[in-house]
Amino acid sequence: MTCYACNYELKPGTTTYFVDLKSCMVIVKNVPCLKCDKCGEVFYSDEVAERLDDIIKQVRSLVTEIAVIEYTDNKAA
Ligand SMILES: [Zn+2]
Repeated sequence: MTCYACNYELKPGTTTYFVDLKSCMVIVKNVPCLKCDKCGEVFYSDEVAERLDDIIKQVRSLVTEIAVIEYTDNKAA
């Protein structure tokens, strides 16, 4: 897989995902991703993107300000 922006080869890694939901902010650490060494773009697989959506939905109803959570594949967690 190559970078959509510059066609450089993507390498697997982890990143910190950050989203501002207005009512609160959510930071998810150690999210698996593909990274471009050249331009710094970060890409998520569909699976990870869906999992992030789930995490955000769960967290936004519980959190009023800032949540910092570890990424996990386990949907029961
Ligand atoms: Zn790139």
